[in-house]
Amino acid sequence: MTDIMPDIMDGIDILISEVGPRDGLQSVQSIMRTDAKKAWIKAEAEAGVREIEVGSFVPPKLLPQLADTGEIVQYARTIPGLQVAVLVPNFKGAENAIAAGAHKLTLPLSVSETHSQANLKKTHAQVLEEVEKIAELIKFQPVENRPHFEGGLSTAFGCTLEGHVPQAKVIEMAERLIALGCDEVGLADTTGYANPVQVKQLVTGIWAAVGRDKLTGIHLHNTRGQGLANVMAALDIGLCTLDSSLGGLGGCPFAPGASGNIITEDLVFLLDSMGLKTGIDMEKLMTVQDVLKESIPGEELYGFTPDAGLPKGYVQAVHGGSGWGHAASKLAAE
Ligand code: ZN
Repeated sequence: MTDIMPDIMDGIDILISEVGPRDGLQSVQSIMRTDAKKAWIKAEAEAGVREIEVGSFVPPKLLPQLADTGEIVQYARTIPGLQVAVLVPNFKGAENAIAAGAHKLTLPLSVSETHSQANLKKTHAQVLEEVEKIAELIKFQPVENRPHFEGGLSTAFGCTLEGHVPQAKVIEMAERLIALGCDEVGLADTTGYANPVQVKQLVTGIWAAVGRDKLTGIHLHNTRGQGLANVMAALDIGLCTLDSSLGGLGGCPFAPGASGNIITEDLVFLLDSMGLKTGIDMEKLMTVQDVLKESIPGEELYGFTPDAGLPKGYVQAVHGGSGWGHAASKLAAE
């Protein structure tokens, strides 16, 4: 942990990292107003969400939806206790992210090199060169400006272009990212190919290679309906940070009518009902969709729990309940 990160895990078992303002918004046509983004982030933080990926420092001409990321980071930094995460595609993005004051930078590296060249227009060697430069940049920042630096292993479970992605390749890239100075690696099932057995195998393999403290989180998709099953595998093995998107914003480009990212509301209900503490108040969380409905009308939102509501007599963990009494805190222990 670097010095500017708030003590994020205090009193909770699992950290929910909301990625909607980045991952969700970059996949929709609508451009959300800056004031609506701020209202969204504020409302989610007030519901108890402790980490939000608020944007991406990509050139505005590529993603006009995220052109205001600098302003959004500065705003989010004023919210007490909120860890402000951003995506950075390259060194330039990292410079901007540090200038804006982000707590955490994630640089995505697509394990499928074909995907890397198609999406980032970069070979692995070129991405790794950026990683090394960013790690150096961070090292020479004053302690109070030094963000946590994650190398995000995307297409880690399979690729729409290459198909199968060998686990050995993912592990090799994890080792290289850590060797070049990342504080941590993250795993992303960008394509929704993962299954629970694969999640456990890959996490175990990466832990054996780089150490357990170097991989704590996972970014899962629900493209084929396996999102929450994969969450259970991640919990079982002991990961403690889960990415998700409010209302599943962004949908899935490969499967129209399906959410891409796992849905924050359903994920929080799953965890809370098993007695795992997230610090999130579900009733408050379920009102946050209103900001999206008002500011980007017509964009499809998903989620079973927001539609069905909480079960009768349900007492949330955040209000002293323990879900249905099946205290599952052991799941997240170790
Ligand atoms: Zn995603």
